[in-house]
Amino acid sequence: RWLEFDRAYFQSYSHVGIHEEMIKDRVRTDTYRAAIMRHQHFIAGKVVMDVGCGTGILSIFCAQAGARRVYAVEASEIAVQANEVVKENDLSDKVIVLHGRVEDVDIEEKVDVIISEWMGYMLLYESMLASVIFARDKWLKPGGLILPSHATLYMAPVTDSERYRNSIDFWRDVYGIDMSAMLPLAKQCEFEEPVVDTISGENVLTWPFAVKYVDCYTVTAQELESITTKYRFTSMMQAPLHGFAFWFDVEFSGPPMLQLNNHLHFPLANSSSEFYAHGSSHRKKRVKSDEVIVLSTAPEDAPTHWQQTMLYFYEPIEVKQDQIIEGSVTLSQSKENLRFLNIHLEYSSGGRSFVKESVMR
Ligand code: SAH
Repeated sequence: RWLEFDRAYFQSYSHVGIHEEMIKDRVRTDTYRAAIMRHQHFIAGKVVMDVGCGTGILSIFCAQAGARRVYAVEASEIAVQANEVVKENDLSDKVIVLHGRVEDVDIEEKVDVIISEWMGYMLLYESMLASVIFARDKWLKPGGLILPSHATLYMAPVTDSERYRNSIDFWRDVYGIDMSAMLPLAKQCEFEEPVVDTISGENVLTWPFAVKYVDCYTVTAQELESITTKYRFTSMMQAPLHGFAFWFDVEFSGPPMLQLNNHLHFPLANSSSEFYAHGSSHRKKRVKSDEVIVLSTAPEDAPTHWQQTMLYFYEPIEVKQDQIIEGSVTLSQSKENLRFLNIHLEYSSGGRSFVKESVMR
């Protein structure tokens, strides 16, 4: 079932532009490098698998950290260039580029470390985490390290009058002409599907809610096929509610045994969504990040190429301070294409309820 969609998916990773964008995202690439160096004591002399190595950058960081061998697995044609890069850096004895899907490759030993940059928009778009899970179950030694080790998808209600003015209200007066007839089409074209763009902390009406917490050591592919969570927010201000923003962070903690220590001091690293839901703040998380390296795509943090993903409403809802915004969200792999993400959003506030269906393609 995967194969029929994967041709187009891997094709998109054979272009240089997508790798350039990822590598130029310094927040992303520097955080990965810092995480590799932080775990150097674990990586040195060991065997690593890089799931989806792209140009080979993370594999080479691991070789620089002293890995004895790195299996750099890449299904798209960019594997050809990755192999050249490895050769030209005299790393061919350490980094073995394997051109194929991680589900299909065969290696002669188990690995101590799995590294992968698998995160898509809204964390789960592209469904690449399933391939990391596959690699973990087939190739990772017991007690091995997975980088990143944990991931959290967040959502928060947002106000964004500027976007609404620029793309919707604008039609009300066009060179003095009333073009309100354009409004339904404009709303549909702008807001039917998720919007990937950058918002700021000021657009966010209250503390985020953790939709899904993923422990990469234990998560199953089945668990990711469909995720449903109920949420409840209390708006901290009076503002028009234009929709919800989604973003994620990933943590790079040690393998489960070594994590114990961190957990004693930083229970958040192991918390459930309920914990965050009760008003846990990003300030608390900062404390944790002194100890654990975190790659964050939150609106108040340094921008990344993931930006944030918004689900905008066709009509804003006026909310007062302390007004409750509640409902549920379901994220599921599309049956039409397993790489796509179906989003079913239910929301109600001030006595009115709505449903929004969208697909991230
Ligand atoms: N590690 C690189 C590229 C990350 S993008 C970097 O950090 O810059 C993810 C890469 O994983 C893409 O190149 C994609 O083609 C590859 N990929 C995704 N699923 C895969 C699978 N199942 N097997 C092998 N490669 C895969």
